[in-house]
Amino acid sequence: MTIDVPQEILDALTDVDMPRLPLEAGPPAMARLAGVDVPIYRAGCVVVGSGAAGLRAAVEMKRRGDDVVIVSQSAWGGTSACSGSDKQTLHTANTADQGDNYKAMARAIRSGGAMDEDTAYVEAIGSSRMMASLQFLGLPLPQDPLGGTLRYQTDHDEVGRATSCGPRTSRLMVKVLAEEALRLNVPFYNQTTAVKILTEGEGAGRHGVGILAMRAGDRTEENPLGIALFVSDVIVLAAGGPGELYRDSVYPNGCFGSLGLALEAGVELVNLTESQFGIGTRREGFPWNLSGTYVQAIPHLYSVDAEGVEHHFLAQYYRSTQELASNVFRKGYQWPFHATRMLDFGSSLVDLAIHCETAAGRRVFMDFNRNPPPVPGDLPFSLERVDEDVRLYLGKAGAGQDMPIDRLKHMNPLAIELYRRYKIDIAAEPLEFAVNNQHMNGGIMVDTWGRSNLAGCYAVGEAAGTHGVTRPGGAALNAGQVFGTRAAEHISASGRAKRAAAGEISAIAEAGITKLLAALRSESPLTVKSIRSEVQARMSEKAGIICDQESVSRALIEARKLNADIRAEGIAYGRAAEAVRGVQWRHMALASEAVLTALDFFIRDGGGSRGARAVCDGEGESLPHAKAGPLEEYRFRKESDAHRHEQIVVRLEGDEVRLSKRANRTLDENAKSFFERDWPAWLTGRIYDLGADE
Ligand SMILES: Cc1cc2nc3c(=O)[nH]c(=O)nc-3n(C[C@H](O)[C@H](O)[C@H](O)COP(=O)(O)OP(=O)(O)OC[C@H]3O[C@@H](n4cnc5c(N)ncnc54)[C@H](O)[C@@H]3O)c2cc1C
Repeated sequence: MTIDVPQEILDALTDVDMPRLPLEAGPPAMARLAGVDVPIYRAGCVVVGSGAAGLRAAVEMKRRGDDVVIVSQSAWGGTSACSGSDKQTLHTANTADQGDNYKAMARAIRSGGAMDEDTAYVEAIGSSRMMASLQFLGLPLPQDPLGGTLRYQTDHDEVGRATSCGPRTSRLMVKVLAEEALRLNVPFYNQTTAVKILTEGEGAGRHGVGILAMRAGDRTEENPLGIALFVSDVIVLAAGGPGELYRDSVYPNGCFGSLGLALEAGVELVNLTESQFGIGTRREGFPWNLSGTYVQAIPHLYSVDAEGVEHHFLAQYYRSTQELASNVFRKGYQWPFHATRMLDFGSSLVDLAIHCETAAGRRVFMDFNRNPPPVPGDLPFSLERVDEDVRLYLGKAGAGQDMPIDRLKHMNPLAIELYRRYKIDIAAEPLEFAVNNQHMNGGIMVDTWGRSNLAGCYAVGEAAGTHGVTRPGGAALNAGQVFGTRAAEHISASGRAKRAAAGEISAIAEAGITKLLAALRSESPLTVKSIRSEVQARMSEKAGIICDQESVSRALIEARKLNADIRAEGIAYGRAAEAVRGVQWRHMALASEAVLTALDFFIRDGGGSRGARAVCDGEGESLPHAKAGPLEEYRFRKESDAHRHEQIVVRLEGDEVRLSKRANRTLDENAKSFFERDWPAWLTGRIYDLGADE
């Protein structure tokens, strides 16, 4: 398993240069709106965000002859370009021993529940096409000599559907898609943050007509905040996940997503209770998940208290050194926290233990120069005394070296190299880490074409709430590619983005700018900093992996109060750049209230522990144990089966967050297509269900 590859090849996998953006064309028109000189841009479709999902949508639309532009807060920012997103789950249609079929894959994708069955099938069947088209664009997915894609098994994946170009897979995806977008001359407005979706009409006739953005490049004396108007009847939200929602987060810096933006525009959200948490290094340093070989090397995990005293905290949880070491190893492929894995001394007891250390104000480290010390009274650590699955894996990998750093060097030298690039030498120093928020499974509610409830507004990638309670590793990137393509196909078939929108929306834009500016004040006790620390602390402490009815309810009351205060007092800003952040933090405060409202409702409704969270309850059926006995404080409710079949829908009515429930959409697995019968629906475009948009 030693990677015998020249250094420059390894370097190319970690240092991925991005293309240069061409100069932007100036605005074709200007208008004086709400006392501001506003540049007006027009397009057939505006894609908000330039991560892997947004770029895919833009490229697919442009190829179909649509008039599409991309606006992006930061061209190569966001999760795809900046995080350790390293695998994509694809259909394994290659050899008998790894054989698969789309229905089985769809079942695996939705196995955690609360996911639409048709969406899971769309993602499964779309995956082969996504893989082939990414390869066509130059994504270097690894192959065997006969052209088969090299694959491996990841979480929630029973046959080995994942593949990877190394630690920078998603950045490489952004690169090849961006190169294609530039080849196709898709106009790209960088440093452009969408701050308001503009709509027209009422009730079922309400539809999107454009967005307001803030652009550093458009700041003038007559427009100090750089407000710009993009007129467009079609909008694709591809702004990624709400990474800033939590203090303990492995998202890159500055990921705000579009939940607040969407809520304000009356767009419905779904499954906001569902996220992913796991161990990793926080965004303040170099945000990276500590899964795979990092923990399979079995380093020593310890904490340090305020007095600088070290604690071998896992020894209070596991009964033997063997049990402790084997569960540290299992975090490699059982990476996300799951309540049921806290039972029977499983691997999520590691997450719980780290959570407790952090809550007690201790810092937690991973030391690759020490094997785990013995659990008091037990034998010392030895590779001869680990569980059978661990022994077999390390044996096969040839990782019999004495020290964790040498095992890691042997199995995955890139893992060490990667941190070195960010000036962290894990071969020399212990690595500080935490249990972090990593992914939002919920988001904007969409149908199988990426349509939201607001006509003309689509959502793709992490912005969309297409995942259910769990998702197999790699499924997020695949979903972004599949739905980026599906939304583009749908928009193109509708013909609504063939040319730039010609609508006259000055009055709507003026009202929008007035509202936007009213919330930004030169004087207010509420600042970007104060809102950020309040929201992030509340979410990490009350809505992380461990929660309960009482603390979630209290957190919700506080979140509502914060939003009421923001409405009453606005947000103070000094510089223009702070004004953009002010709007984004207003949206984030709203998103946080929406998540807590859904979580509070879910728990009151008898919701149990699933996916990211353990719902603790003195009456709960499940009781994790530590070495010294039962952990009564963490007794938790079991998952309720009924909740697997439904989803919680969230919308904003006035200032109130409202909830409803809906059943998962189903799929008839026995339905078969029949060429002569079904061809006309394709030829006439009936498959796009365009009538629903009129
Ligand atoms: C550490 C880590 C590891 C992961 N590993 C995997 C993995 O192995 N496999 C997998 O499938 N998934 C993984 N994920 C999840 C996956 O990377 C993301 O879900 C995916 O990259 C999201 O892509 P996206 O295009 O939707 O959003 P992003 O890549 O986040 O892009 C969002 C874009 O929107 C822009 N933007 C945001 N707000 C605005 C606005 N208001 N106006 C204009 N532009 C805006 C941003 O600048 C950015 O360009 C991982 C995530 C993390 C954090």
